[in-house]
Amino acid sequence: MKRFISRNQEYLPTNFYNLKADLPEPPKPPLHPGTKEPITPDDLLPLFPAGLIQHEGSQERFIPIPQKVLEAFSVYRPTPLIYASALKNKLQTPAHILYKYEGAGPTGSHKSNTALVQAYLAAEEGVKTLSTETGAGQWGSALAHAGSEFGVNVDVFMVRISYRQKPGRRILMELYGAHVKESPSSSTDSGKKFFEIDPNHPGSLGIAISEAVETAVKNEGVKYSLGSVLASVLMHQSVIGLEAEEQLKEIGLTPDVIIGCVGGGSNFSGLAFPFVRHNLNGQRKTRFIAVEPEVCATLTTGEFKYDHGDSVGLTPLLHMYTLGMDFVPPPIHAGGLRYHGMAPLVSHLVHTGIVDPVAYSEEKIFQAAELFLKTEGILPAPESAHAIAAAIDEALLAKEEDQEKVILFNLSGHGFLDINAYEKNSKKQ
Ligand SMILES: *Cc1c(COP(=O)(O)O)cnc(C)c1O
Repeated sequence: MKRFISRNQEYLPTNFYNLKADLPEPPKPPLHPGTKEPITPDDLLPLFPAGLIQHEGSQERFIPIPQKVLEAFSVYRPTPLIYASALKNKLQTPAHILYKYEGAGPTGSHKSNTALVQAYLAAEEGVKTLSTETGAGQWGSALAHAGSEFGVNVDVFMVRISYRQKPGRRILMELYGAHVKESPSSSTDSGKKFFEIDPNHPGSLGIAISEAVETAVKNEGVKYSLGSVLASVLMHQSVIGLEAEEQLKEIGLTPDVIIGCVGGGSNFSGLAFPFVRHNLNGQRKTRFIAVEPEVCATLTTGEFKYDHGDSVGLTPLLHMYTLGMDFVPPPIHAGGLRYHGMAPLVSHLVHTGIVDPVAYSEEKIFQAAELFLKTEGILPAPESAHAIAAAIDEALLAKEEDQEKVILFNLSGHGFLDINAYEKNSKKQ
């Protein structure tokens, strides 16, 4: 089998795929935090650029990718689809293991796929500044890059524990010209609620979201940008799966199992949704596995209900699996997976039995990451290592059952800036 599937520019799609067009039943709509009525596009105008609100509400199956975004994508897309022959040999499995390598993006994760769209849409409308939050720093650096590309300022609230553990990401954001603050900060009412109790509060994505939302709503010319969870963001990420589907045709394989790690759900959805449509129209029975950390096990232990997307109650109420808006996940190295909620579309697919969730320990995912590094040669982000661990489990299961299964997973990012986490983890063992 070829180890590397080509990155022919023709595989770069010209439209985003919108799963909503193919769902037999829509998920419950987001509600206004005040009135508890379904949210209208006008309600969202103080928060998001109008172009994004249009993407968010669209029921169209395909939405054209703007030309300037396509040009920005073409610098790093199509990303490689790699046949993991070294990992396969090591595991002695009959399964075919493939991964889409989103670490090839400019800041090392899939997040640029939506960051570039959001910065473009903001710039088109004359938005001066995008405010946002970041956990491990991947989203902040992706938006900082996209802002510099399209001429939009970027203000980032960075979860304190990551700010202190991962200075590399902060430096990267600042090099792109972004302003970065530790969250909880003392510069917003939302941040003060936590900062004044404990100036060393480790922070959480939920709190940082509240701070970024408050900044957008209270300041003229500032809009808010979210790196996951939204239907529009999941749709922007569909370029991953659309490319993978074309690339797989080149080697004549169809996936039996598709795997992604889940924080807010965007990289998983980006790979999975273009394939989910074949299950929905009855043509295939692909298995979809969403992998989360045990200590922030939203899908496997959370409740399916309406909850806020942030920790203060400023965002619309989303119908999703949630650990509760007050839940502050313990500090783990996979900072990008420390979120109390989950994208409503992913939650809906889990609830309807199309996606199977699993939760893994930090020990297990670091072992998987090391095996992957030693075989495939790529240092994965600790977030992505969750998907690797599940792919290994599936490959070992295929060996037990002597099945030539096709396993496809999303390697959502590289771990070069997480190198300290690897050092700490190897000392622990
Ligand atoms: C942010 C991030 C994630 C988690 O976010 P999703 O929206 O669930 O994709 C996973 N992997 C990497 C490398 C990330 O940067």
